[in-house]
Amino acid sequence: MFFLTVLLPKVSFGISNVDFLNSDITDLFLLDNKNDSTFVIVIDPGHGGKDSGTSHNSVNEKEITLQISKYINQIIEDNQPYIDVKLTRDEDVFVALNDRIEFSQRQNADLFISIHCNSYSDKKVNGTEVYALGIGQGEHLAIAARENNSVLWEDDFESKYDWVDPNSIEAHIFLSAFQSVHLSQSINLANKVNHSISQKSGTKNRGVKQAGFVILKNPSSPSILVEVGYLSNKSDREKMTTVEGQKQIAQGISDAILNFINEKSLLNSVSIN
Ligand SMILES: [Zn+2]
Repeated sequence: MFFLTVLLPKVSFGISNVDFLNSDITDLFLLDNKNDSTFVIVIDPGHGGKDSGTSHNSVNEKEITLQISKYINQIIEDNQPYIDVKLTRDEDVFVALNDRIEFSQRQNADLFISIHCNSYSDKKVNGTEVYALGIGQGEHLAIAARENNSVLWEDDFESKYDWVDPNSIEAHIFLSAFQSVHLSQSINLANKVNHSISQKSGTKNRGVKQAGFVILKNPSSPSILVEVGYLSNKSDREKMTTVEGQKQIAQGISDAILNFINEKSLLNSVSIN
């Protein structure tokens, strides 16, 4: 079972000042910089309410992102009592992008993962791609611009997001510097998530990329945006609209999160010696 296998290696380090044989995951989290013993993951189901996201064949992105997010919550909380999963929304309501980021900061989140579905004019294009914040290029800019368009549903968005245009040079400079403190961890998590979704659900692995997503402007934790598949592609759409496919995707993301946490815990364990 995954959750057991990822936690087992910690006992093999034999570090003298911590009794790892009698420890559980709580001890490992106490080694982190935070004072609490619960690891908090904020899962952000993209879009909601009046913002449906992308739509194909009567399927709305906002419904798929919510379902997958709920399955992630269920999988992790059923198996890991010391990990607290918080959703930025658990029903079909509109939530502004900056409110999602503020929610994550209020929850003192250790990880932030935003869930989305992709779309493209060429219906043959398919697969999973995972983003960290950074300077985008080509098609990645277009994807960031489409996702950032959620702010257009917000009142007074121009005063709230003065750097929202991902095509501007100023936005690039600002965004590229914004999350550098967590960038390597975000990319590490993104790689794990991308690989794990493909492994569990059979989607094509399109790789880890960087672009100027507003929702990733979060200085408080490693943050990634997952485009789980293309709603415009029949095969991806079938995976994303069935319970089985949604659960496979959620399992892939959950496994990757646990893998990331376990690796981080081991690094912290070693560093205290
Ligand atoms: Zn989206």
